[in-house]
Amino acid sequence: FDTVSVNGQKEKILVSVRLRPLSDNEKSRNEVSDWECINNSTVIYKGNNPDRAMLPSAYTFDRVFGCGCPTEQVYTEGAKEVVFSAVSGINSSIFAYGQTSSGKTYTMSGITEYAVSDIYDYIEKHQERDYILKFSAMEIYNEAVRDLLSLDSTPLRLLDDPERGTVVERLTEEMLQDWNHFLDLLAVCEAQRHIGDTSMNQMSSRSHQILRLTIESSAREYQYHHLGARNSSTLTASVNFVDLAGSERASQTLSAGTRLKEGCHINRSLLTLGTVIRKLSKGGKGHVPYRNSKLTRILHNSLGGNARTAIICTMSPARMHVEQSRNTLLFASCAK
Ligand code: ADP
Ligand code: MG
Repeated sequence: FDTVSVNGQKEKILVSVRLRPLSDNEKSRNEVSDWECINNSTVIYKGNNPDRAMLPSAYTFDRVFGCGCPTEQVYTEGAKEVVFSAVSGINSSIFAYGQTSSGKTYTMSGITEYAVSDIYDYIEKHQERDYILKFSAMEIYNEAVRDLLSLDSTPLRLLDDPERGTVVERLTEEMLQDWNHFLDLLAVCEAQRHIGDTSMNQMSSRSHQILRLTIESSAREYQYHHLGARNSSTLTASVNFVDLAGSERASQTLSAGTRLKEGCHINRSLLTLGTVIRKLSKGGKGHVPYRNSKLTRILHNSLGGNARTAIICTMSPARMHVEQSRNTLLFASCAK
């Protein structure tokens, strides 16, 4: 993994796990919570484990967040430093990974809002540079890419640009006026996500959403005169907030012995992302199959290389979900 070196330390993928509280629905079915965070970095399984000898019951990550933990803290400790690398010109991606209803959207939408608000605060305090924020949003469903800021739902093509890498053709990019403009655009995305030939639930469990904030900055004119041309450099980088399809789409096809059910779609983007992340976490040597899916092509410049990545794996603590929770933790462990 060709990582950025900060203070001589190699930066790896920042991996955290977030447990959500038991839902009312789970409680009404007398579900019990089988998982607990015992400190800042370890989550343990405390349920009955017939395979105790086979499977670990403690899992350690960069950070773990228990069910009482607010999203603001998840943002601050699990994403902020990766988000802010984009302010200094380094592309980055924040992923929410987990089974459907584990809290991906809850977590990622919160993180996105905290991040953009935080960036506005930062800009306010750094008047020595001029900042331009641009926003775009897309959805990948059955390997078709759709613009979430456009009423036109025709799938968008990916083009290979010799300088910029993979670009999404005709993707809307809005120049952000201010915070309220950002909230308006989020509302547009939300409304656009509801359009589709399948039910909302099915759609959101199978689709990936990428919200992309591009940050451009240049030194202010007066500085240019006082301090010379070396401060006038322009920095441009993007941070991608990625709400992934439900991970059951990957594990259904991955776990040994599970027969592929009819009608169960293999989610190519999710599977490829898993492979790419595993390769990157092992040093990124050899062939990294970015080109095998739309998601990894779109994120190529923001994943691996000099880019910074944070993954927040969400899980339900309920006993009934133990198998999916283990798969999620397995994925998280591979990403470290
Ligand atoms: P996913 O996007 O993974 O399918 P959601 O984010 O939609 O899951 O979460 C499922 C439900 O659980 C939603 O009603 C959401 O509000 C709730 N929820 C998720 N995470 C939390 C949390 N950490 N605290 C409280 N409620 C949560
Ligand atoms: Mg969701």
